[in-house]
Amino acid sequence: AKDVGGNSYFIYDETIGIKEYENLTMLNELRQAVNNEEFVLYYQPKIDIKREKIIGMEALIRWNNPKRGLVFPDKFIPLAEDTGLIVPIGEWVLREACRQNKEWIQKGYKPRRISVNISARQFQYYNFLDTVSNILEETGLEPEYLGLEITETTAISDIEYTIDVLNRLKQLGVSVIMDDFGTGYSSLKYLREMSINEIKIDRAFIWDIETNEKNRAISRTITVLAKQFDILVTAEGVETKEQLDILKKIGCDKAQGYYFSKPKATWCRLVRK
Ligand code: C2E
Ligand code: CA
Ligand code: CA
Ligand code: CA
Repeated sequence: AKDVGGNSYFIYDETIGIKEYENLTMLNELRQAVNNEEFVLYYQPKIDIKREKIIGMEALIRWNNPKRGLVFPDKFIPLAEDTGLIVPIGEWVLREACRQNKEWIQKGYKPRRISVNISARQFQYYNFLDTVSNILEETGLEPEYLGLEITETTAISDIEYTIDVLNRLKQLGVSVIMDDFGTGYSSLKYLREMSINEIKIDRAFIWDIETNEKNRAISRTITVLAKQFDILVTAEGVETKEQLDILKKIGCDKAQGYYFSKPKATWCRLVRK
């Protein structure tokens, strides 16, 4: 028999304390990271499946901390979202992505669209639209070369608001991509009502598409229906030639994944065939 009782309660309490302490420490470091410019963007190319050409890239944040090393977004974005820090971090991401893309264009690279991930909290922040248009003006990037990736969950949490913001983004000339498609609860019905240029089929449906008939059917259905609404389809997480061939057959427009390139700190021009 174990002598627990109050003791186990104490241990339980203490564990929570440690977790909270770690979050608090990370939060303080994250706050400083915004000021110290410890964030970096990595870029992963988006490929036009038919032409086998790079047509754009997605910007993905990393946190380069002297003590922690290179921290991936899954480790700090949730905390940033919970605490509202995602608003200044997200603004930095937008500005840096636009600045960098403009620089590439000015250096003579073929102009391509850069897409940026937008958190729900950032999208719902009262001055989001002003932030986007100010950054475009500030950096001089043409709006057609900016794309915003929002998730289904963000989009359907307040549909009226979303429809309004998406219409204004369309007026601005910025593209909107529905990210992680198929994992949330939205339906294709909303796609028709919302100004969406593109959807991204989540990696969860792609990774086993060679052997999983259900996932292949889902990917095909999403693609067929999206086309009826004139929405482009990107598959994310493409890792093999077999997956790419299936997606090509299905009629998917674009692909992104390790098969072509991992996200890189510098812009890569080469595409593996
Ligand atoms: P996401 O937007 O769905 O991005 C795709 C993730 O899959 C990226 O992870 C990317 O590196 C990874 N990936 C790409 N191709 C492959 C592949 O072929 N195989 C596998 N296994 N993975 C692949 P990453 O960069 O760690 O980002 C994770 C998530 O963090 C993103 O998921 C996005 O939700 C979030 N995130 C990243 N950057 C930002 C940002 O600037 N702002 C916000 N709000 N969220 C961001
Ligand atoms: Ca994304
Ligand atoms: Ca995803
Ligand atoms: Ca995601």
